[in-house]
Amino acid sequence: MNTYLNSLNEAQKQAVIQKDGPMIIIAGAGSGKTRVLTYRIAHLMQQGVDAFNILSLTFTNKAAREMKERIAGVVGQSEAKNLWMGTFHSVFARILRSEADKLGFPSNFTIYDTQDSVRLITAIIKEMNLDKERYKPKQILSRISSFKNSLITVRAYFNNPDLQEADMHASRPKVGDIYKEYVDRCFKSGAMDFDDLLLRTNELLARFPEVLAKYQDRFRYIMVDEYQDTNHSQYLIVRSLADKYENICVVGDDSQSIYSFRGANIQNILNFQKDYPDVKTFKLEQNYRSTKNIVNAANSVIARNKTKLDKEVWTSNDAGDSINVMRTISDGEEGRFVAQSIWENMMNNQLTPDNFCVLYRTNSQSRAIEDALRKKNIDYTIYGGISFYQRKEIKDILSYLRILINQNDEEALKRIINYPARGIGATTIDRLTIAANHYKKSIFEIIKYIDKIDIKINSGTKNKLQNFMNMILRLQIESQTKNAFEIAETVVKQTRLIKDLEKDGTPETVSKVENVQELLNGIKDFITDKIEEGEDASLTSFLEDVALATDFDSKKNDNKPSVSLMTIHQSKGLEYQYVYIVGLEENLFPSAMSMNTRSELEEERRLFYVALTRAEKVAYLTYAQTRYRWGKLIDSEPSRFLEEIDDQFLYYITPKIPEPSINRFVDKSIFDDAPKGIRFQKPIQRKKMERNLVRKKEIIIPKNLKKVSQTNAKPNLFDESIVVGNIVEHNRFGAGEVIALEGKGPNKKAEIKFSTVGKKKLLLQFAKLKVI
Ligand code: ATP
Ligand code: MG
Repeated sequence: MNTYLNSLNEAQKQAVIQKDGPMIIIAGAGSGKTRVLTYRIAHLMQQGVDAFNILSLTFTNKAAREMKERIAGVVGQSEAKNLWMGTFHSVFARILRSEADKLGFPSNFTIYDTQDSVRLITAIIKEMNLDKERYKPKQILSRISSFKNSLITVRAYFNNPDLQEADMHASRPKVGDIYKEYVDRCFKSGAMDFDDLLLRTNELLARFPEVLAKYQDRFRYIMVDEYQDTNHSQYLIVRSLADKYENICVVGDDSQSIYSFRGANIQNILNFQKDYPDVKTFKLEQNYRSTKNIVNAANSVIARNKTKLDKEVWTSNDAGDSINVMRTISDGEEGRFVAQSIWENMMNNQLTPDNFCVLYRTNSQSRAIEDALRKKNIDYTIYGGISFYQRKEIKDILSYLRILINQNDEEALKRIINYPARGIGATTIDRLTIAANHYKKSIFEIIKYIDKIDIKINSGTKNKLQNFMNMILRLQIESQTKNAFEIAETVVKQTRLIKDLEKDGTPETVSKVENVQELLNGIKDFITDKIEEGEDASLTSFLEDVALATDFDSKKNDNKPSVSLMTIHQSKGLEYQYVYIVGLEENLFPSAMSMNTRSELEEERRLFYVALTRAEKVAYLTYAQTRYRWGKLIDSEPSRFLEEIDDQFLYYITPKIPEPSINRFVDKSIFDDAPKGIRFQKPIQRKKMERNLVRKKEIIIPKNLKKVSQTNAKPNLFDESIVVGNIVEHNRFGAGEVIALEGKGPNKKAEIKFSTVGKKKLLLQFAKLKVI
């Protein structure tokens, strides 16, 4: 009976079969929390609990789908279908749809995304004649969001002198008025924003006891995964729904709480025992996911956090490889290293790309990785965010570049004709389009001859159109004497796109500005590569490359196995055989914006813990000594998290202590807002340093082998002449002895005994062995 119970350890089994009452499962990463929740649901159903009576809240809808599939494997597809599963937002949006009329909303209410919300707030600020600099729409939105997540309604705001005083002190006395207007307008528009989905659910449950009773009876068993990242609003929903039966099971790991910047409250998990004095607590401490090295390394880092619950995480899995640490000269080289390493690991271990994951702190870091993977023809998927070249700010710049190449490109023109805003409205664009169709000309041609044709556009607007046209023509002339990078840089400067992006000082803004810098860096790298390869380095060629990259991305819905690229925040709950954590540099990870207080730094450390514990077999930690940020090449220091890992778990691919880099100096022209302690370098020196590194590339020779100077090392890339007994050098594993050979041609493999990692079978074609 119940074969699924046999695939659980004793502690897990106890948690699965505990049927009634409040319970909390506190457990480390990879210890089977999600697995227990899944089997617990299946078990409840096996015990006769109706699927309709079970509510399970997960971190992503994808996680919910996967859970449901597994449960279907035990209880059958048709039964599993009736389970209520999903994220807080998706589950409660569904409930709100059927109850909306009680709150005065239509059942087909709109859900505003962040962009809609920002636009509305911007409009309100304008209508109220408030200073946009003082009332920055995104900041106002995030303030409103935090009110809503703490259940502070408009009325509650105006009843709370402390809150009003805080806004007075911040010289924003009208925040409450904006909040009120925003709520009224959403209501009038029949719209709810993301936070409303939780706030209005709370309102529904609080104001309508019969509705509360209905859902309390429906959801007799409630389960919450990733409980450490619930905010106050979510906490209250769960509490009130569970109030009648108290069959509530929450699962979480305080060491993985990483969303406090969005209002998540780690106290929810820490206080669960206080909320439910009868709570049964379960601890799962055996990790099934990762090797000993990974588990112990992660433990050694998180041990430095002061705020945490007491638990041990251990594994009976193999020790596995040490965690690899790689230092590169530049972010570009980091990308190339990651791509090359993924390629080699795929070939050497016969793995598909979906066993690999690249994690980064901020989205803008994906560009260098994407470029390198694309060059190697390795399929990849970017999660949580559109591909780099699809991002709005990037697309806008590319549209300018496209117009410079082909002024008749209508789609590009429509995108930029009023971006950044230059007072050319939708009506004007409509009239231009009509005229263009009538005269069978492009819109740009119509603008050129606007004084000579019959078109209903007033002289002021005509002027604006001509100014726009002249700017494009000027840029076109300038571009004839410039290379692709210089053109793009000119476009960014002349159109003041960065200024436009910088208007709001929120983290998203910073990442957009960084994306623009990333685009410029990408064009620079493109030119360097093309010139080195003796190929066309023109702007046209670059745009073609980008267009193909977009094509490549759009083909990505084909379910072909691919490497996953995502931020660490998105990687919660996931696991991969090979994990690359890139950009381990001070001010990037930990982020410069999260180092002001101990609690911020502890959250960054938890983030690192989450990242490292995604790895099953092998982890790579990489950092670049120089990186383009804020539009300049900066020197970076290795992240403190590298130092914090116990050395015994690490393997340094490159030596630990960086050789002194040449001529570091401070470039005084740097932006004022760069964090303190960052040194800048002139771009030209990057190339020099890369060359330097190539010359100095070290060979690691095990103690028991004769030391041979580097000049004796023969590159032997595709050499088939290697024989048993040869001493060879591998760029990662160091030196080793060939103990067997098998296969032929491209399939020829050597079994090599390395003193660092033991025996390995490598395909000669890819192993890049040197006979020494
Ligand atoms: P995270 O903290 O990252 O969310 P988790 O605690 O939810 O992790 P799971 O994802 O449920 O952990 O499990 C981690 C891995 O270990 C999964 O691949 C799971 O199938 C496996 N696993 C869990 N328990 C067992 C077990 N008793 N026997 C074998 N494998 C197990
Ligand atoms: Mg999990």
